Amino acid sequence: MTEILRVEHLKKSYDGFLAVNGVSFSVQQGELKALIGPNGAGKSTCFNMLMGQLKPTEGEVFLDGENVTGKRPRDIWRRGVGRTFQITGTYQSMTVIENVQMALMSHNHRLFSVWPRAWKLYREEAFEFLETVSMADQADRPCSILAYGDLKRLELAIALCHRPRLLLMDEPTAGMAPSARIELMQLTADIVRDQGVSVLFTEHDMDVVFAHAHHIMVLNRGELIADGDAEAVRNNPQVQEVYLGG
Ligand code: ADP
Ligand code: MG
Repeated sequence: MTEILRVEHLKKSYDGFLAVNGVSFSVQQGELKALIGPNGAGKSTCFNMLMGQLKPTEGEVFLDGENVTGKRPRDIWRRGVGRTFQITGTYQSMTVIENVQMALMSHNHRLFSVWPRAWKLYREEAFEFLETVSMADQADRPCSILAYGDLKRLELAIALCHRPRLLLMDEPTAGMAPSARIELMQLTADIVRDQGVSVLFTEHDMDVVFAHAHHIMVLNRGELIADGDAEAVRNNPQVQEVYLGG
């Protein structure tokens, strides 16, 4: 197995309060890994440190063995780490496929001088990304009329346009109905399997996590109390005590 991400003794202090307190873990290529834990456990803080949005107080982040601690978000992104956002970032006035075309263009070109020609070329490729998330039939609908779950799937397609090797998803299913949650995670699991991309995600719905994640980490008050497969995490007494409520 190839290790993509490794985190060592990561700490984040907010005015002396340790939101993340010595967290170490790794993510392998082709792995779908969940980071769960109660509200305020430090999940988003961890993600923000991985993406370069927050500087760790202590500890180190390695991508493909290279120390990238303290690098800027853009540098991390260039190394193949993508993320989907909790708040939707699509252009509401554009159609579904136009949003994907925009993402492909911004990935492949610095200069917009090639715009009109590239725009047409990317339509076909954009279609393939929409097929990946089962949205080809909605290609020409304006984003403003999309259902929330479809918007989330479109965001996933847009994130994939940058060909990430590691995708970070912080609460990708927040605000979705249970059936839509399962659907989005099933889709994510299919993408991990078919494309060999790695995904690290946070999620509240335990059914979703135990159904789809290859490995599960449990964070509690800034500390990792479990890291293993569903069986091991379920049977971990500390997890049962502090997280699953006995
Ligand atoms: P989670 O994503 O697991 O819900 P967060 O990482 O958002 O948790 O927050 C972890 C802890 O750090 C919480 O107690 C939160 O109040 C605190 N926290 C998060 N961001 C800040 C900040 N910018 N300043 C001070 N405290 C913060
Ligand atoms: Mg959070």
